Amino acid sequence: MRLSIMEFMNYVGGSEHSKCVVEGENVLNAGHLILAGKIEESSCSDYIDVYGLCLQSSVLDSNPHEITGKLSLSKSIKISSMLCSCKAGNSGKCKHVSAFLIRCIRQDVEHWVLFPKLKKKCVWAIQKNLTKEKYRPVSVDEMPCFENKGIYKSQLDVNPDDIVNFFCNKLPASAIAKHMKGRREECSTDVCTNLEKN
Ligand SMILES: [Zn+2]
Repeated sequence: MRLSIMEFMNYVGGSEHSKCVVEGENVLNAGHLILAGKIEESSCSDYIDVYGLCLQSSVLDSNPHEITGKLSLSKSIKISSMLCSCKAGNSGKCKHVSAFLIRCIRQDVEHWVLFPKLKKKCVWAIQKNLTKEKYRPVSVDEMPCFENKGIYKSQLDVNPDDIVNFFCNKLPASAIAKHMKGRREECSTDVCTNLEKN
């Protein structure tokens, strides 16, 4: 059994152009939903508790957002409640929850990962190193799109200060150019003379 698209759209209250729908799909397609599954069956078989971890897009190696929720299972899946640990998560309709629910549309509930109830906190501890390795910063020559393209490092005989000055002259309105020049206006001779007299 899968979550229906209609139930998802009714729950988030949006259209295919809604921010949470579009961003949720982007988060899922980027692979940032690193875990999504259900927690060990409770005594009540009409509901399942779900649990997920979603990486913070801006800080990939920090603790991921936790998604929790309850889904009702009858003839179809109904969304009872969802929560996320991000700032917008109390609404239960942030992009992380959206990504989680889109995943529920794509995969049968029977095939979801089953987390032991007491061990869900350990999941990130196991996953952390794998995630760090996946998103570790690499130099250009290690990037898959440049593999076997004959990229090699060479030493440039250029003064780094000359490069900074070159770009600052070309882009005088840039933050670094203003910083280098100093933001205070030059003191005019008349003003300086008057100040000295006083
Ligand atoms: Zn969230």
